[in-house]
Amino acid sequence: MSDFESYTCGNCGEGFKAHPSGNAAANAYCSPACESVGKRL
Ligand SMILES: [Zn+2]
Repeated sequence: MSDFESYTCGNCGEGFKAHPSGNAAANAYCSPACESVGKRL
């Protein structure tokens, strides 16, 4: 599949690729760990 898009993590600033319909794309975090920090969970 080649329909992945590039995003920048909202926490660490790391570039990553994710499927536009995926959870990572919606949240704009490269990993669950960054999502936790970014959202201050
Ligand atoms: Zn990150």
